[in-house]
Amino acid sequence: MEERIIIIGSNGQIGTELALALRSKYGQESVVTSDIRQPSVASAGPFELINVLDRELLKAMFDKYKPTQVYLLAAVLSAVGEQNPKMAWDLNMTGLLHVLDLAVEFKVRKVFWPSSIAVFGPNSPKERTPQYCTMDPNTVYGFSKQAGERWCEYYFNKYGLDVRSIRYPGLISWKAAPGGGTTDYAIHIFHEALSKASYQCFLSADTALPMLYMEDAIRGTLALMEAPAKNLRIRSSYNLTGISLTPQELSTEIRKHIPDFTISYKENDPRQVIADSWPSSIDDSYAQQDWGWKPEFDITALTNEMLTNLKQNLETT
Ligand code: NAD
Repeated sequence: MEERIIIIGSNGQIGTELALALRSKYGQESVVTSDIRQPSVASAGPFELINVLDRELLKAMFDKYKPTQVYLLAAVLSAVGEQNPKMAWDLNMTGLLHVLDLAVEFKVRKVFWPSSIAVFGPNSPKERTPQYCTMDPNTVYGFSKQAGERWCEYYFNKYGLDVRSIRYPGLISWKAAPGGGTTDYAIHIFHEALSKASYQCFLSADTALPMLYMEDAIRGTLALMEAPAKNLRIRSSYNLTGISLTPQELSTEIRKHIPDFTISYKENDPRQVIADSWPSSIDDSYAQQDWGWKPEFDITALTNEMLTNLKQNLETT
């Protein structure tokens, strides 16, 4: 069956790479990208300027393209959400409900919506956090994702909507800038290692957080979207991880490439409080069993990829 795909919030860290992957798989014209802002480089296929909160315009876009798949990426991320909690709640909830309702109305075959490890909280187990456990997120981002998961499962159970979701950990990538999350240090550190050979980290040296290299995240997302529906036991959101790492471990790895690299640590950054409430590592055995999840990038491979690609970028700009 021919696919017509819409990505909402396509100009961000994930959308930039997801659009490339989906276009190379399904063809340029089959993937419509859309965002509230114009893309920084001209889109390789159809693009629509759209605010996901504007239901009428959103509906017109669904009507124009009659999508078979929709990926909703527009959201306010963790650190930015804490600066404007009501706005974060509104975008993360109303945007999702608009898309779920229109997906039912237009009989969209599959919807992808990302959740986050932020759905866990201070009383969730910290190590190898399981799929099902106490969840008491204390950021607006976290509880908007938790409520979003409930809505996704509800639309699946009540309306038969084929919604699929992943609780992404921190995503590490070099093609697009990160959007204001708590794990962004793991991207900034590479940029500054190359430009200044030093970095001041906003998280403490031993703050372990689950992370995933973007190439793995995109591969995993496509694998989930292609998996037979009958294999998917989870319609809220799948735990998923690549590796767990601390700023200190990452800086040790970077020093293997840039021996004079130094790292210092800023105290009392509000993002530390968020990081302290999140898991240090994740148990993603449901994703392994249901759709064959297996990450490819460890800390050595991702450090190598980040430095090589960012260095090439610096040399060509
Ligand atoms: P991002 O902030 O980089 O990109 C979000 C995009 O949405 C931006 O291009 C922005 O312009 C657009 N947008 C904002 N408001 C909009 C609106 N009203 N209408 C239409 N578009 C709008 O975020 P990202 O890192 O690409 O994350 C995408 C999704 O993945 C989010 O739901 C996020 O919560 C989730 N996620 C990301 C990470 C990560 O590490 N990047 C981790 C866990 C979950």
